[in-house]
Amino acid sequence: MIDLISLTLAQARDALRKKDFSATELVEAYLAALEKARALNAFVLEAPEHARAMARVSDDRLAKGEGGPLEGVPLGIKDLFCTEGVRTTACSHILDNFVPSYESTVTANLWRDGAVLLGKTNADEFAMGSSNETSYYGPVLSPWRRRGSTTKLVPGGSSGGSATAVAARLSAGAIGTDTGGSIRQPAAFCGIVGLKPTYGRCSRWGIVAFASSLDQAGPFGRTVRDCAILLRSMAGHDPKDTTCADLPVPNYEAAIGRSVKGMRIGIPKEYRMPGMAAEIEALWRRGADWLKDAGAELVEISLPMTKYALPAYYIVAPAEASSNLARYDGVRYGLRTAGRDIIEMYEQTRAAGFGKEVRRRIMIGTYVLSAGYYDAYYLRAQKVRTLIKRDFETAFAAGVDAILTPTTPSAAFALGEKSRADPIEMYLNDVFTVTVNMAGLPAISVPAGLDSQGLPLGLQLIGRPFAEETLFALGAAIEQAAGSFAPEKWW
Ligand code: GLN
Repeated sequence: MIDLISLTLAQARDALRKKDFSATELVEAYLAALEKARALNAFVLEAPEHARAMARVSDDRLAKGEGGPLEGVPLGIKDLFCTEGVRTTACSHILDNFVPSYESTVTANLWRDGAVLLGKTNADEFAMGSSNETSYYGPVLSPWRRRGSTTKLVPGGSSGGSATAVAARLSAGAIGTDTGGSIRQPAAFCGIVGLKPTYGRCSRWGIVAFASSLDQAGPFGRTVRDCAILLRSMAGHDPKDTTCADLPVPNYEAAIGRSVKGMRIGIPKEYRMPGMAAEIEALWRRGADWLKDAGAELVEISLPMTKYALPAYYIVAPAEASSNLARYDGVRYGLRTAGRDIIEMYEQTRAAGFGKEVRRRIMIGTYVLSAGYYDAYYLRAQKVRTLIKRDFETAFAAGVDAILTPTTPSAAFALGEKSRADPIEMYLNDVFTVTVNMAGLPAISVPAGLDSQGLPLGLQLIGRPFAEETLFALGAAIEQAAGSFAPEKWW
């Protein structure tokens, strides 16, 4: 008997079509795994009844040979995507018991293609964080541990529940969002693949907004192929999101195994940060060598604005967040804390409903948008953003097909290690990922090795706008050279 949860998404999909087992059997295997893995806190809502009903429909369709591209495949969905009739909280107290009456476009696309909802995954509150420690529902634990140690590690954030679900074999694939690195960083920490598509590739409609000009939905998979399969179903034009691109969706899976011969890979010298860990540097060099061995050409490039990306991001993102989060006032959704009058009710509700990090972002955002500071901070950050984008455009115009960098400056850290003291410590985690969101580009993180303590490390490939296929081809080449990584089960 095969262990159903050990199959990749592609393997499960193919086996379902061949009727090796049923969608119901697959769902039951995952539901049993979920039950045994509650210590990881990867899900804020398990949806067994929903999952079983969807699996039954899939089995009917498969029996008739009518299955969609994801028929019967069980997924974890970050609790930032509105799911009709299924509680959606953005992992915030303020959205307590909010049950949407509509479905996000991305999840609707997945269900259209036959996927099965297993449950909603834990995340940082309103997707603000890099460790999944800001969730109202408590932190997610990484399924990984340092060799010979029982220290609890973070899975990365903000899509930490989705990354953990995939790495710990609690779902065949998962969906997250990435505003400054929230798919790529947890993918790297958990030893799996994660992709942030080009801004506009997937509809943002029905996703709880954090920073609208940066947010993008994307897939997590155990393999590059699994991510390619998921993206094809997620992506596509949506008239309900005016920033969603009206472009055909390629068959991304066809890019897996495509030759990368002759591709030009940029190595940006500014990403060689002072004090960078030797292990990260070595990993990066190894990744470059793998691509060279596969026939790609390496070129050193310069992205001089890199050092301004993090400060500019931490102005733009809170500014947009402060505006987006103004809607949570106790009137229309979720929590309401009574006050003497309506103003006091707003204040009490927002004070009780938002966690510390979210309140910090709202205050920073309100400050940088306020009269007198708007020009000095917000407007300048927007100008810097344009320059960051121009850096990438210059590199691509010079013939670079993709850019290779480490995904994170280190492997996963311990719970509490960076969240207790200075918030800047946490923000520094995003140093290699935020530039991509500022420029609206696609990027993938692929596991590339283990550090000296046995923890996974990822490499990031950044592509031209809408060149996700190039990233899948290059990502698959790295994957082939590096192999795959799975945590030892302890939960
Ligand atoms: N860590 C970044 C932040 O806290 C990015 C979060 C994200 O991508 N959602 O803003």
